[in-house]
Amino acid sequence: MNYEHMPLFQLAREVMERIEAYGGEAYIVGGCVRDLILQHEVGDIDIATSLVPEEVMEVFDKVIPVGVEHGTVIVRHRSHSFEVTTYRIEEDYRNYRHPERVYFVSSIEKDLSRRDFTMNAIAMSGSGDIIDPFNGREAIREKRITTVGKAEDRFEEDPLRMMRALRFSAQLNFSIDEEVYSVINEKKGLLEHLSVERIAEEFIKLMTSYSYLEGWRNLKLTGVYHYFPIFRNRPFLIDARPATRLTDWGELISFYHLQARDTDVKEWITSWKLSNRIRKKAEKLIEAFHLFEENETINYAMYQLGEDYLHSFRNLTSSLGIDLSFDPRDTYDNLPVHARNDLALKTSELMDVFPERKKGKWIGEYLHAMEESVVQGTCRNQKHELIEWVKEWDQQNRN
Ligand code: ATP
Ligand code: MG
Repeated sequence: MNYEHMPLFQLAREVMERIEAYGGEAYIVGGCVRDLILQHEVGDIDIATSLVPEEVMEVFDKVIPVGVEHGTVIVRHRSHSFEVTTYRIEEDYRNYRHPERVYFVSSIEKDLSRRDFTMNAIAMSGSGDIIDPFNGREAIREKRITTVGKAEDRFEEDPLRMMRALRFSAQLNFSIDEEVYSVINEKKGLLEHLSVERIAEEFIKLMTSYSYLEGWRNLKLTGVYHYFPIFRNRPFLIDARPATRLTDWGELISFYHLQARDTDVKEWITSWKLSNRIRKKAEKLIEAFHLFEENETINYAMYQLGEDYLHSFRNLTSSLGIDLSFDPRDTYDNLPVHARNDLALKTSELMDVFPERKKGKWIGEYLHAMEESVVQGTCRNQKHELIEWVKEWDQQNRN
């Protein structure tokens, strides 16, 4: 295999050569080999070695001991990080969670045998030799996802692998082998034992993949979604199929909320254990969508949304099958003001217009009314016009 043109692999090769010079074996393994064969972009390079962590630490100057008890250290080499893990197998999966123990083993073949799918169980040496005891290359060629060993056993050991199968089907546009598929169907209840965070990670990767429709179809047909928060109580939600790809949690929550408006954002955040940042984004998108639905207020919708979420608003509307008649970015750029601070009438000047009034809640309300009016184009952002406008608005408001 020719990977000379890839500097990251060149660096990995240097790491492997250092291990070999020390008397150890080293292979690149897992997702990076799969992606290399697929000619996809490779993110991280993982290296498997016969050396134990203590030995790896002797070979390299800069080693971060991230998971020594599991055999993993990070080697820093020319400003790049490589995860270097001792050949190991995992045993004693209790309660379907992490393995109780890992055992270091002496051969790469044994290490490959603990891996989930045949496409992920290929190793490649520094000189390009491939070790592929489970015919992973053939599976990759045929775009098939199949387990190393019996699917039943492997999913019982670690039910997350079922989610991984579905996620890879979306990420790679591969099909899941029939037998594997039927075991997922049969064993999906084991997902109950997983933490919601682990499920969430796979679900979002699946839904934001280019072939998300393949993943979505598999979620639906296997019935795996019955074990997801929200979907558990509202199974009909799975029928809502995004017309185009969503790109993050904020967009995804907004999409489903707009399908079933009784699922509020807070419920999504707490039941899927997501962050406040995601909550804020979903709330902004939904608010902007409601303003947009009320038609004439597109300018105000984009103003409220703010610059950071314009792109997501487009993704959201297109996932809902809506063809926007305006460009969110252009609309935003052409707004006369972008923040309250841009108003030509400042707070102190507003107070001068109504000298008889004390400081209070009214100021915020009046500023808000001016923002809205300027953004909508009913008043220009000029001091004297704003003074006239706010006086008139005050008259109407008080009656
Ligand atoms: P990506 O990084 O794109 O998510 P990947 O295949 O690299 O895909 P990782 O989670 O980074 O996935 O794991 C690296 C490798 O470790 C996998 O390719 C696989 O060989 C093995 N692996 C990961 N998770 C499991 C698991 N739950 N069961 C068995 N093997 C696993
Ligand atoms: Mg990886």
